[in-house]
Amino acid sequence: MDAEKSFQRGTVLLQLNGKLAARPNRYSVQVGRGKHLMPDGESCVWQFLNHSCQPNAAVMGRRLVAIREIAAGDEVTFNYNCNEYDMDSPFRCRCGHCDGVLVRGFRYLNAADRERLGPYVAAHVRQEQNEATPAALAVHA
Ligand SMILES: [Zn+2]
Repeated sequence: MDAEKSFQRGTVLLQLNGKLAARPNRYSVQVGRGKHLMPDGESCVWQFLNHSCQPNAAVMGRRLVAIREIAAGDEVTFNYNCNEYDMDSPFRCRCGHCDGVLVRGFRYLNAADRERLGPYVAAHVRQEQNEATPAALAVHA
């Protein structure tokens, strides 16, 4: 989806609307623990947003926010790994900034990749990470 005009960093580009489901599918965006927003018709234009490893936007709550300046005609993208913990439909990235990584959710990123996402990782993803880590450690204790 291309920007129709230019946007300053920090601009709210879209409100994400739709129906909530407990399970993800290939079109959903995770907005909370067990909360996956499904597109509910043509008004859900966010369904046409693509992933990028160097995105110009991020999903914060139910808002899509510009995280750097966006020029008219630029493709608006966000990093799915910031919102999805464990994706239903992994895919090979074709963003052009990576060597075709498999995008399948934050759960599968190594520490360096997690660090690189910085402040744009959603709170529900951090929660799932924090709960997963002690359990994994306990197994080896
Ligand atoms: Zn990529």
